Amino acid sequence: MADYAQFYRRSLDERDAFWAEQAELIDWKQPPQQICDYSHPPFARWFVGGTTNLCHNAVDRHLSQRALQPALICVSTETGQERSYTFSELHVEVQRMAAVLRALGVRRGDRVLLYMPMIAEAAFAMLACARIGALHTVVFGGFAASSLASRIDDAEPTVIVSADAGSRGGKVVPYKPLLDEALRIAHHKTAQVLMVERGLAPMSLVPGRDHAWTTLREQHLNAEVACEWVDATHPSYTLYTSGTTGRPKGVQRDTGGYAVALAASMRHIFDAEAGQTLFTAGPPQGEKAAPCPSGAQDAPAPGGGDPRERRSVGVFFCTSDIGWVVGHSYIIYAPLIAGMATILYEGLPTRPDAGVWWSLVEKYRVTHMFSAPTAVRVLKKQDPRYLRRYDLSSLTALFLAGEPLDEPTAHWISDALGVPIVDNYWQTETGWPILTIARGVEKLPTRLGSPGFPMYGYDVRLVDEATGEDLKEPNQKGVLAIEGPLPPGCMQTVWRDDARFVGTYWGSIPGRQIYSTFDWGIRDKDGYYFILGRTDDVINVAGHRLGTREIEECIAQHAGVAEVAVVGVADALKGQVAMAFAVARDATGLDAAARLRLEGEIMKLVDGQLGAVARPARVHIVALLPKTRSGKLLRRALQAVCEGRDPGDLTTMEDPAALEQARALAQG
Ligand code: ATP
Ligand code: MG
Repeated sequence: MADYAQFYRRSLDERDAFWAEQAELIDWKQPPQQICDYSHPPFARWFVGGTTNLCHNAVDRHLSQRALQPALICVSTETGQERSYTFSELHVEVQRMAAVLRALGVRRGDRVLLYMPMIAEAAFAMLACARIGALHTVVFGGFAASSLASRIDDAEPTVIVSADAGSRGGKVVPYKPLLDEALRIAHHKTAQVLMVERGLAPMSLVPGRDHAWTTLREQHLNAEVACEWVDATHPSYTLYTSGTTGRPKGVQRDTGGYAVALAASMRHIFDAEAGQTLFTAGPPQGEKAAPCPSGAQDAPAPGGGDPRERRSVGVFFCTSDIGWVVGHSYIIYAPLIAGMATILYEGLPTRPDAGVWWSLVEKYRVTHMFSAPTAVRVLKKQDPRYLRRYDLSSLTALFLAGEPLDEPTAHWISDALGVPIVDNYWQTETGWPILTIARGVEKLPTRLGSPGFPMYGYDVRLVDEATGEDLKEPNQKGVLAIEGPLPPGCMQTVWRDDARFVGTYWGSIPGRQIYSTFDWGIRDKDGYYFILGRTDDVINVAGHRLGTREIEECIAQHAGVAEVAVVGVADALKGQVAMAFAVARDATGLDAAARLRLEGEIMKLVDGQLGAVARPARVHIVALLPKTRSGKLLRRALQAVCEGRDPGDLTTMEDPAALEQARALAQG
């Protein structure tokens, strides 16, 4: 196995040679003429002169070798439906969708907005857009009408693809009324609407504007739609950031750089590959791998098929939503580009019970799982027996991203699963991990609480936010920044707003043009990085600078705490004080006295570990915390209600009740 430090150095020192090699992981129609054009910083253009297609790389490319292998496995614990598509079937469905979009007027460069639940048609639509060179803009299904309307106005889509309804926790959420309302208030008027009828909620179609997917699909059953070869720099999609710290930014991504970055990440970071079907028991020893005899059928059907058949096909199960970047990269594109099967899951992690994900790991022999700390914290509240019921021997690792992974949660899930837990830190803007362990290069040990090391291609720095200087010594706290050019796969610009791209991301560190992640971090003496929180989340108590994350980490160690958020609140005397909102592990059994006791214990814990400066002024015990749809804590909203201010843009908030409770407590 190679030496990661060397691999990393080479990616920066011999940048073009390094990425030219990675570019061979994908198919090109025309190979690139120039690896990186950074003549107009901070705008980087990767693989200039090359032409390719994301859909070709995700689907068509595999037909010669694994046409009958499963590609897309759709599981809904909301509707009880389960259906798997081979690469060949996916190819057929994507062409039908592509033909329908074309028939509705979509051309290369046009935008198609997806407002979809986690169903197969969402994947078909994304891939179909890529196929015909249109840009998709996925908006979380069920977002409020006003949030949807503002994204319609920003993207100006030719077509909107939606469905009658989504479902969450058994509750049907009709999308059509929200979409109708959004289209009514949006200024952009020309969109045609394609509706997938799931039969979950009644809906009426507006003549001339709305079209039924089943009807149009019927008309294009035998459609053959060739891939449009587009320039490597042709935009593939736009996607909004989670809106945790303010108004969401519309990230614009390219095609060639993204395809290369994802293919490289599957190999070097996730250590994942397509694999093939093997006979592992029964046939004589030494029997060679045999091609999948039954291909199209679902993974090992209990009691059916050849009992000796054992798939070693790579199966990627990413529990995210297609509405955010993890879903784009690691539900749809990366696993398919790698020729793996990918699981598209609609439902909660706890329904019908907390074992549902692990039952899928067993059933489909999942090799790689990707989730978020927020989901693990949900499971942590459940009986750990649910995890032990299933055969998880196929699983090589669990990857977690999106939020800091606190040590107790990491310990809990690692003990429960018995596989490596790999934290990975990145952003919508970057499209793939910035910090993690490159398991395909060298399986360096993970360190609890740390996402690991800078990934190849990212020239990561810690900088002093006041002077802009690089912090070179271990354990110095600074802003996590990236020296340009950003590697392939990262954002090209803010959609239709180059000035915001340059000004926001590259203009916040004094004296130098360097990309700011707006996260605050530290590097230990061995080079492991730790994320301390958002730069906005640094609290200044009587001159002491504290990361909210440090206090949260400390409080999370209390056995009675399931989850916690800490914010800095303006204080006349101290400048700022910390305020904590904690979700008790057993909220139902807590009376007033028990709450008070818990609050006292938490304060004592912080006192003992971090000192009295970090001690929260109050610890509020709440039922749930305000989060974005992608599961991120909305600390800025908590802070605003504590300070009696307007919480700002809440379009991405999951459940308003959480913020209301916090407001009542903070002001009460
Ligand atoms: P917005 O930019 O609109 O405020 P957001 O930053 O939450 O929203 P995302 O791009 O979805 O939008 O999230 C990226 C951010 O999530 C990172 O900048 C970081 O703050 C946090 N994050 C992601 N992964 C990790 C991780 N492994 N550890 C710690 N923090 C993480
Ligand atoms: Mg952000």
